[in-house]
Amino acid sequence: MNMRIGFGFDTHRLVEGRPLVLGGIIIPHPTGLLGHSDADALLHAICDALLGAANLRDIGFHFPDTDPRYKGIDSRKLLAGTVQLLHDKGYAVGNIDCTIVAEAPKLNPHVPAMQAVIAPLLQVDEDCVSIKATRNEGMDAIGNQEGMKVYAVALIYKRAH
Ligand code: MG
Repeated sequence: MNMRIGFGFDTHRLVEGRPLVLGGIIIPHPTGLLGHSDADALLHAICDALLGAANLRDIGFHFPDTDPRYKGIDSRKLLAGTVQLLHDKGYAVGNIDCTIVAEAPKLNPHVPAMQAVIAPLLQVDEDCVSIKATRNEGMDAIGNQEGMKVYAVALIYKRAH
């Protein structure tokens, strides 16, 4: 059994005038995450967890935010590219578990739609994509709705040849 684990974290600022893209879907909200790409903090944290598990550096190493090719990019493409990097090194995804820390909006109603987007990108069943959401109880910048944070862990395994 050749399994490895990885951990990922991402945070983005919330601003007016941007759509809220999270988990590969657009969620109605007065503010959206700010970033060079679509700023999908959930997919970015998942990318880093997967890359970490495979010891393949991090998302900024492969998809630098100084590269105009990635300006405004759909982060589903970054996740697909990450999974390809894992496959190239002989790994497949086992499961992931994520926690989004956001004061608003309520994210639990959107979890099934996120799972439906993420599972095919990871080439796993939706049952292997766990997404949890919690508030920051009004504390600090996250509690003040100035941004969101996401933590993710991933298990990968060496594919049989
Ligand atoms: Mg990011």
